[in-house]
Amino acid sequence: MTEKIKQNAEPDWSEYRGVLVVVEQRDGKAKPVSWQLLGIGRKLAQKLEVDTLALVMGHDVEHLAREAVYYGADKVYIADDPVLKHYRTYPYSRVCLELFRKIKPEIVLFGATYTGRDLAGAIATHLPTGLTADCTMLDVEPPPSRLLLASRPAFSEKMVATILCKKYRPQMATARPGVFDALPRDPSRQGEMIPFPCPVKEEDVAARVIDFIQDEQRVNLEDASVIVAGGRGLGGPEGFKVLKELADALGGEVGASRAVVEAGWISHDHQVGQTGHTVRPKLYIAVGISGAVQHVVGMQNSDVIVAINKDPNAPIFKVAHYGVVGDWAEIVPAMIEEVKKRRG
Ligand code: FAD
Repeated sequence: MTEKIKQNAEPDWSEYRGVLVVVEQRDGKAKPVSWQLLGIGRKLAQKLEVDTLALVMGHDVEHLAREAVYYGADKVYIADDPVLKHYRTYPYSRVCLELFRKIKPEIVLFGATYTGRDLAGAIATHLPTGLTADCTMLDVEPPPSRLLLASRPAFSEKMVATILCKKYRPQMATARPGVFDALPRDPSRQGEMIPFPCPVKEEDVAARVIDFIQDEQRVNLEDASVIVAGGRGLGGPEGFKVLKELADALGGEVGASRAVVEAGWISHDHQVGQTGHTVRPKLYIAVGISGAVQHVVGMQNSDVIVAINKDPNAPIFKVAHYGVVGDWAEIVPAMIEEVKKRRG
């Protein structure tokens, strides 16, 4: 009987405390998702009455540790070493494994980016612990349970599943960029910066980074400050050439609704919405997009939304800050001309 009770008893996790965000950077520039994670991470930490922690890895990245404090971290661990200059799974995962074993955070959050997914997966298998990927909602049960409630779309996005990690620590999740709010940057915030030695030497790493070749075709909607998105109202794939001209004039990227992706007018990496990217640019221009709820969830947090639609009753106007009722084929070329004129 005693043995049975022992087997069923919840493990004692009292050594594990704190919510840790793994800051992602490239060439010394942080991915915006890192600060968004510090925003939600701090809320979770406040509910659990623990510190908000951050880990910055790279080479010459001390400035990012300061930024992490400005965006809400109480303590920042900095692994600054030439071995960590470029992301490689082995050295980055070794730093995380050593740090997590030493400081024992109860929750660890990563961005659901290519790098974050790769790193979190490698760490979860080594620790071992559970990992909930691609979360769109995060919460915690208050003490004494302290469980992370990691929610993500499931069953072809028709349901939301909330996943718990009851038997292992830390509880780990990757979260979608653009979903959570970053706290306002506060340069007067104070925090502790703690150097953490990189346990790996260059000769221990099998992979070498020879060169980076920029993929000219690749869109980066999540980091874009301007997005010009097109929908079925464009009438065909040719319309995207005009949208690209406007996006280029504004220094932005081209987005799309699912209808046009499914029609084969543009590739899936441009899709905004529930089954595409969640974005929050400074300016989102929706052209010939009706404003279905599945599209709106992916762009409603944009700072300024401009909608161009010939139907004055299109639902997109309910979320737009500025609306233009009319034919895009007349309006967008006029906008391009005006932007070019103003830019000289
Ligand atoms: P439509 O709804 O056909 O709208 C076209 C609009 O163009 C109309 O409002 C029309 O008035 C306007 N228009 C027509 N001609 C002109 C013109 N000359 N000038 C100006 N305006 C014009 N959708 C997404 O976008 N992203 C998602 O991630 C997504 N995920 C989904 C997930 C699920 C599970 C489901 C069921 C659906 C999902 N959808 C998603 C699809 C979504 O429900 C809509 O079908 C889709 O967003 C509609 O695309 P649209 O606005 O381009 O087309």
